[in-house]
Amino acid sequence: MEQWKQKGTGDKEECHLCRITYSIFSTFPSMPSAMAMNVETGGFFPMDRLRSYSNGHDMADALGYAWACNCRERTPKRHDEQFTVRDASGRPLSGVRYRIRTGVDVVASGITDSDGRTVRIRSNRSQRLILEMAH
Ligand SMILES: [Zn+2]
Repeated sequence: MEQWKQKGTGDKEECHLCRITYSIFSTFPSMPSAMAMNVETGGFFPMDRLRSYSNGHDMADALGYAWACNCRERTPKRHDEQFTVRDASGRPLSGVRYRIRTGVDVVASGITDSDGRTVRIRSNRSQRLILEMAH
């Protein structure tokens, strides 16, 4: 068994993504005026902040691609979504035919279960999911 360890993360194994991220940014020179971008939100933050993190996962999180990480059990809710279809009074509607799209691509379709829920959608990108119903 191979184990990848890094200082600052205890005995946790780090995935490839976190190790690479850490190896890149922990050795960056200080660049007080440089900005890095969170690819998920499109927001910018000071590049130097990356160097203050003690592990690659926090860096990947700040950069917006921690969803690709394999070494933490977190599942960001934005990438693992489930809809519940309700009527106007808030009661779950079961047996409703639906489909879920991201843009023009249909990623799931089916009929809501007894609690009005759709299937759980996992996506690797922070795409906006659109729920369509056919009554
Ligand atoms: Zn990781």
